[in-house]
Amino acid sequence: MVDPDYATRFSDFAVPSARAQARKIALSLLAETRLRTRAYRELLQTPRVHFLYLHYVFQDEEAGFESLLEWLGDNNHTLLSYSDAVKRAESGEIDRPYVCFSFDDGVDNCLKAAAILKAHGAFACFFLNGCNLEEEHVIKPMLYTYRQPGRKPARYLSLGEVEQLKNAGHEIGGHTYHHLNLAEASDDEIDQDLQRNRAFLEPRFGPLHHFAWPFGRFSCFSQAARRRVLQAGYTSIASAERGIHRTPGGPGLCILRDNIVAAWPLSHARYLMAQSVARASTAPPSWEDLPA
Ligand SMILES: [Zn+2]
Repeated sequence: MVDPDYATRFSDFAVPSARAQARKIALSLLAETRLRTRAYRELLQTPRVHFLYLHYVFQDEEAGFESLLEWLGDNNHTLLSYSDAVKRAESGEIDRPYVCFSFDDGVDNCLKAAAILKAHGAFACFFLNGCNLEEEHVIKPMLYTYRQPGRKPARYLSLGEVEQLKNAGHEIGGHTYHHLNLAEASDDEIDQDLQRNRAFLEPRFGPLHHFAWPFGRFSCFSQAARRRVLQAGYTSIASAERGIHRTPGGPGLCILRDNIVAAWPLSHARYLMAQSVARASTAPPSWEDLPA
């Protein structure tokens, strides 16, 4: 039942290496050092729309996720729904630090993450692939567990669970039907896949407005794919490229998102968010970074 190549072919992750572990230790030291300076801490008070995205919150990560939400609340950040965050990023109505959460792929522990968010008055957007919600694709025990072998295997959300997310006030977005690398797909394949995901999700969960492309890098998207996503009726398009929004991006802007892992020490999340603020240019992000 388990497809051993699944993680390699479809996952947004790679298996952690010794180098990744060393990088994590270095990041901890750097984060602690930098965050001791007032100037660095003040970066996080910059008015902006900061899109944060995760894939999962395992049980052993729930306390970390709660700490991040508490820290944001205690430090002047207003949590926005995805639609409200997109509106502010488009219009530039950005008078304080705003944060918005989204989740890609839709594994089962998103349900608990959604409940934690709601307890903090926050709502997320869940970017889903129709193929993972179909019954025969539900169980993928290898996926999302290989980073922490002791964890209970995750599976994808069931249709009933997505319904619960929707009924709790969260939003559902498109992430392609097959978790396609859109830079490698033909125009026809892209059109058919987008149409299939919409035909699968919309009758169940209502109109889809928001799209996040799989793998999230500019190298996995293209100008042609962007045109087809817009033609398919999506009004927002998100990457997984790091960054923030602090000037008017206009309709259909390229949304930048910072990846967060709830198991990280809080200092990592704060440091990476501050880095995104420090590196942000005053110009809105441009689609010109995409391959043709
Ligand atoms: Zn994905």
